[in-house]
Amino acid sequence: MNEKIKGVGKVTEECFSKMGIETVDQLLHTFPNRYMKMPKPVDLKEVGIGKYAIVGFVYGTPIMTGRRAMEKVYTSTGTINAIWFRLSYSTKMMRIKQKYVFYGQVSEYNGKKQIIQPEIYPYEQYMKMYKKPDPVYPLTKGLKQNTMKKAMKEALKNSNHSECISSSIMNRHHLVSHEYAINQVHFPDSFDALEDALYRLKFEELYLYMKEIYDMNNVNRDSGPILSDHVDEIIDHLPFKLTEGQMNAWEEMKKDFISGKQSTRLIQGDVGCGKTILAFLGLLQCAKNGYQGVLLAPTEVLASQHYEGLKNILVSQGLPYKATLLTGSTKNKNEICKSIKNGEISIIIGTHALFQQSVEYKNLAVVITDEQHRFGVEQRKTLVEKGISAHQIMMSATPIPRTLGLILYGNTAVTVIKDRPADRLPIKNCVIEKNKRLVAWKMIQSQIEKGNQAYIICPMVEDNDENDLSSVVEYVKDMEKYFPKETKIGMVYGKSKDKTDVMERFEKNEYQILVSTTVIEVGINVPNATVMMIEDANRFGLSQLHQLRGRVGRGKHQGYCIFVNGSKDKCERLDIIASTNDGFKIAEEDLKLRGMGELTGTKQSGTQGFLLADIYNDKDILFAAAEEAGVYIEKNK
Ligand code: ADP
Ligand code: MG
Repeated sequence: MNEKIKGVGKVTEECFSKMGIETVDQLLHTFPNRYMKMPKPVDLKEVGIGKYAIVGFVYGTPIMTGRRAMEKVYTSTGTINAIWFRLSYSTKMMRIKQKYVFYGQVSEYNGKKQIIQPEIYPYEQYMKMYKKPDPVYPLTKGLKQNTMKKAMKEALKNSNHSECISSSIMNRHHLVSHEYAINQVHFPDSFDALEDALYRLKFEELYLYMKEIYDMNNVNRDSGPILSDHVDEIIDHLPFKLTEGQMNAWEEMKKDFISGKQSTRLIQGDVGCGKTILAFLGLLQCAKNGYQGVLLAPTEVLASQHYEGLKNILVSQGLPYKATLLTGSTKNKNEICKSIKNGEISIIIGTHALFQQSVEYKNLAVVITDEQHRFGVEQRKTLVEKGISAHQIMMSATPIPRTLGLILYGNTAVTVIKDRPADRLPIKNCVIEKNKRLVAWKMIQSQIEKGNQAYIICPMVEDNDENDLSSVVEYVKDMEKYFPKETKIGMVYGKSKDKTDVMERFEKNEYQILVSTTVIEVGINVPNATVMMIEDANRFGLSQLHQLRGRVGRGKHQGYCIFVNGSKDKCERLDIIASTNDGFKIAEEDLKLRGMGELTGTKQSGTQGFLLADIYNDKDILFAAAEEAGVYIEKNK
């Protein structure tokens, strides 16, 4: 952490860092996944089997005898035995004859009810908590909810919250203040307060975004770099023929490049349709015309893969242009920055590191963002500012409805690629239950024997105390026991240090299986991989599942996608995704399902780069924010 937070020690700090939290501000923007409600305390009469909160007194303090401690709890309607298998601080601190709430699992033993390992709360404290939603934060191994809450409280106390929305707008939309909202979203006084806070923070997020869009819409675009020397001969020497959709997109890009105006274009096409080569052509066109071009990817892994891909073209076609990779982990940054500044390097591929102040360009003509929906507008803007009047190309596989697109992307031309390379077979899908895992592994082994490779996605990095979701680390251990020694298994997750290295080895088929979190969700391209197996697939959203599936079926081999339903119940989303490979259809279904989303609960499932707001669920807030920011809205469409 850059700033110190009282009470946050080294271990916690390391946990934060694993979660990508490096600053107080980032901590404050780590919102609860959900909120819990403490149950209402009930009379012993109403208690059945299950979790209950019971009000009562004790007349002694529990002591371990053998492996358990027992104490009789007296309530107004009878007594119940409380059993502990380990004594916590609060059991030891319990005072006799004081009113407590005992919260725990009630079960039956020899025909008599007992409460197992109850948590103990002083009555007054419980009643206060009971009215409040209790935040549940995302965690990582070694980090406990309580530690997170303490750090958050401390961070809130010591931070300044300036108001960023004018009072007239706040009045018009009945917004609570920023300070109130940020406090309440973490520690709500009530569910109503939480709702107000979420509304305010979503409004804020969208409003600030829309103001940027307004500025970008009003930039004078009359002059833009002219790149008239085309690179079509490169297309003739590619190992494949461009599809009609790709050709069409390229023609439109060329028109932008020679228009003399600064252009912005969104290229939308389903996973696997071949957008990367268009980005490369754009970059090469810059280089050929003596300008610089930037390609921005949302993850380091993807950036380095793009870099390798581009180098491949440079080498195989004997092109003289210089390219570089610039990411957070680039070592000789200073040197590279120098060569970018003096124009020696004309093609720059990287991640958000490209936004840093220290990166100066000589003559940036084109900025391409891959997987655009992963970025906020701010990043795009910074780059454009650096390039003054660079052409902007945004690429995305996530289709978005026209009205929303107009608002979110401003004055942007849209090209849609509808076809895909001709040699592709449709992916075969299936949904299985967890207990069929070995069958799936067997199938994977048979694919490996044919020379192919497999991805396995797990939702967690390490096993976690709070749930039993599959974790990458444990999963690899299990697999190593099952698969023959010759089958090599690689492992990648967000903060793993060697991830680009592991990825490269997977590309070279030195690993036959890659077990990963969703870091490989976007963009990754290993055509030899034929199986995608997603553990706890019921935990993921439709578009995310579609992106993940898009990692296979990228070559001429048959691709397979196995969705493992980690829940005992049927999962509608999994049935939908398994029934079609069409990204547009899936987006439509996604919209329908999202419409039914719950009101409170942040889930951090924001779309299009937003943290809280979901442009589908929060469409009305988006429209209101756009209007206030002065962005033109096409209504009733
Ligand atoms: P996406 O649109 O998802 O970014 P990519 O650009 O990564 O897709 O392309 C997926 C794969 O298809 C890559 O291996 C790429 O080399 C290959 N590819 C792209 N265009 C064609 C084409 N016209 N014919 C055959 N293969 C192609
Ligand atoms: Mg891509």
